[in-house]
Amino acid sequence: MPAEANEIVDVCIVGAGMAGLVVAAETAAAGLRTIVVEASDRVGGMLAPVMIGGDAGVGAAGLTVDAGAESFATRTTGVADLIDRWHLPVTVTAPNPAGAWLVAGGDSGIRRAPLPRRSVLGIPADPRAADILALVPPRAERLLPVPAEEPSLYDIVAARLGDDLASAVVDTVCRGVYSRSAHDLTLSVVHPQLWQRFVQTGSLTDAVADLAAGPRPGSAVAGIVGGMWRLPVELAARARAAGATIMLDTPVHRIHGAGGVGDRTRDEALSVDAGSTAIRARTVVIATGRGQALRLLGEHSDGAGAPVELAIALVRSLGLDAHPVGTGALIADAAPIDAKALTHANAKWGWLDEQLERHHHVVRLSARDGVTGRFDEASVATAISVVTGVSVAAEDVRELHVRRWDASSSSSTSLVVAADPRLHLAGAAVAGTGLASVVPHAREVAATLIHALAAPPLASAAS
Ligand SMILES: Cc1cc2nc3c(=O)[nH]c(=O)nc-3n(C[C@H](O)[C@H](O)[C@H](O)COP(=O)(O)OP(=O)(O)OC[C@H]3O[C@@H](n4cnc5c(N)ncnc54)[C@H](O)[C@@H]3O)c2cc1C
Repeated sequence: MPAEANEIVDVCIVGAGMAGLVVAAETAAAGLRTIVVEASDRVGGMLAPVMIGGDAGVGAAGLTVDAGAESFATRTTGVADLIDRWHLPVTVTAPNPAGAWLVAGGDSGIRRAPLPRRSVLGIPADPRAADILALVPPRAERLLPVPAEEPSLYDIVAARLGDDLASAVVDTVCRGVYSRSAHDLTLSVVHPQLWQRFVQTGSLTDAVADLAAGPRPGSAVAGIVGGMWRLPVELAARARAAGATIMLDTPVHRIHGAGGVGDRTRDEALSVDAGSTAIRARTVVIATGRGQALRLLGEHSDGAGAPVELAIALVRSLGLDAHPVGTGALIADAAPIDAKALTHANAKWGWLDEQLERHHHVVRLSARDGVTGRFDEASVATAISVVTGVSVAAEDVRELHVRRWDASSSSSTSLVVAADPRLHLAGAAVAGTGLASVVPHAREVAATLIHALAAPPLASAAS
């Protein structure tokens, strides 16, 4: 049921990204009075649209493409289940199975090759397979004892398969997929299954061989026809229809009354301070991202995390018609450009290709971690040329949009939330990056709230 002014709502959700919307739709549908408070002028957070204008190349009406996430991993059924659950009017689509490439560079020049077919995290099942030899010199695995104390993923690979493979392939995959260096990751955390097989067999390549029989790397994702940004728009419509109120342009500054000690305090409503609006709520779900979450609770934040800058370019090029690097490329550190990944969006998604005029392409470039302000028509043209091997000039970049995201992926713990049953965290800050994790986690948060609040109202909330 819609919330009235001045009443105490059951659930106030801060942030209308996917996590906040998933919780809102569920709690509203369960009959809980639900308000979502969103700082920006739209729902979706990191699922965001960008309009590519109605100039040459996209038809008079223009085209809306993703400016943030453009796919979701299918390693969980989280997103598919959500679409079914709410009968969302969207069509799930598979990417072009051609897959992505890896571009390595160095003194000996640029090397381009499809991402190794039988590999996990860039670790090959056969280090002498042709697609590995196209990237790094031959090297057999050195069979060493499984270390008593787990070193970094980089070190474990470098010791067995050489620095070349660890830096040009494994580190590049980690930076492109997790925005973290392989030096900062451990195998047991990134891929527990592979770690377990490695401990059992004592061989990295044997462990990969056991697991790599599955789909081609990069193909275990799906998208939405028209763009991922449509998912939150449709979900917000369902949440509203179920009775949730979604307030846009309403940044929350602070949550008052949180972390009180003693049962009496915890029975009282929390107060969500959004400037001229104060919302009193029995429970608050913070779905804002890590830095904001800690700030709202008055807790110490250890920095906002490195921003991720993304360039979305409409490019006219005959050379790109041949899809020179499949659906895109992960770019090794040593390559002489400031981008870590390129997505040839219309090579990847058929629905997008159908809407572009001949010889026109949508290319997304992700800047290296922490690098900002470098994207302009000239640098984008250079990056596309280096990565694809197709010469693209600045004037071929017909339109350019640059977006900056704070996509810090480290997961949060909050002492205040842990101590206060009225407070809950949802979203990538606590569930981990990516919709395959964020969506199922948010549904669990909603189930917890529905279970807890279905009990008779708290004494002071009813008064
Ligand atoms: C460029 C890019 C590409 C990505 N690609 C993929 C991909 O291919 N596949 C995949 O699964 N994931 C991808 N991700 C990650 C994925 O988008 C996120 O993990 C997910 O969308 C996070 O959802 P969320 O609801 O936790 O947070 P967000 O989407 O960040 O939503 C948080 C919301 O809270 C609002 N907010 C913040 N502070 C306040 C405040 N004080 N008051 C009120 N509102 C506030 C924000 O405005 C925002 O709307 C990508 C992310 C980026 C940036």
